Amino acid sequence: MGAATAAIPEVVLESSNGQRRMPVIGLGTAPEATSKVSTKDAVLEAIKQGYRHFDAASAYGVEQSLGEAIQEALQLGLISSRDELFITTKIWVTDNHPNLILPALQKSLKTLQLEYLDLYLIHWPISAKPGKVTYPIEQSELVPFDMEGVWKSMEECQRLGLTKAIGVSNFSIKKLEKLLSFATIPPAVNQVEVNLAFQQQKLREFCKSKGITVTAFSPLRKGASRGTNMVMDNDVLKELADAHGKTVAQICLRWIYEQGVTVVAKSYDKERMKQNLEIFDWCLREEDYKKISEIHQDRLIKGPTKPLLNDLWDEDHH
Ligand code: NAP
Repeated sequence: MGAATAAIPEVVLESSNGQRRMPVIGLGTAPEATSKVSTKDAVLEAIKQGYRHFDAASAYGVEQSLGEAIQEALQLGLISSRDELFITTKIWVTDNHPNLILPALQKSLKTLQLEYLDLYLIHWPISAKPGKVTYPIEQSELVPFDMEGVWKSMEECQRLGLTKAIGVSNFSIKKLEKLLSFATIPPAVNQVEVNLAFQQQKLREFCKSKGITVTAFSPLRKGASRGTNMVMDNDVLKELADAHGKTVAQICLRWIYEQGVTVVAKSYDKERMKQNLEIFDWCLREEDYKKISEIHQDRLIKGPTKPLLNDLWDEDHH
């Protein structure tokens, strides 16, 4: 093996064959127009630093670059086998139809130059007419989401060995309950927004009770934020960061880790991606938790459609 790597704790995904371990922190790859670093370079740097878990999606347009970075990491000897990595990608809403799941996964695998995924996720609990990917999705493009049919196809993908685990993203408690009512393979993961200004306690408790691992996205609340950032610009969190000699980002990520929640954080900057791994050898204090409990709560990512859907989050009307 190549470079010295940071030790990143892992969790076992409960609904897989019990052998699949997922590093608790992964590198997000949702593209940002302003980014000066390419996905390929960022992933290579991340592998050098010890990241082994990468979170992609067919909608991000990064699968090819991620695949190229993996090939290069193998050639450079940074990893000795693809099996050392944990690769997630997600099905886009235009493919969220029972007969399109397998072809979409095969296409993603081809683009990633991989034989198998570690985790395949339903990106959103909605379906749009097959075809062109647009963002945001016009409401007029939506068609009824056949959750049961889609999940059967996801299960088939796992049975075929094309993915080691299957899961969902942006599912409410109500939608998870529905899914669990017919799933023969329960979802291993629900990837949802979790950050200090959207702590999702109820959903996290529900997932824990069902053995579903929660993965937090937008942990720094930065990806799609405009204007004031409710965590990175929070004075209380700045005080906590100073008290610990850490950055606000590290406070955010450490809190998520202490919740038993896994996280995908995006940084393409060498220093910041390193900083984001330095959260495992210190802890928050009881008094920090009191302050954290007082942070105003509001969902950042409200949905992928234009206009927004009223019932996307069901009972969670935040
Ligand atoms: P995020 O990870 O909360 O924030 C990313 C932003 O924060 C980037 O602008 C990054 O800039 C900056 N940053 C990273 N580390 C930092 C640090 N230590 N200090 C200061 N700034 C820092 O937001 P996100 O990209 O929205 O979410 C993370 C990942 O979750 C995505 O990339 C994607 O993989 C996934 N996601 C999934 C969904 C879904 O629907 N399933 C939705 C949103 C996101 P630099 O790169 O310049 O450091």
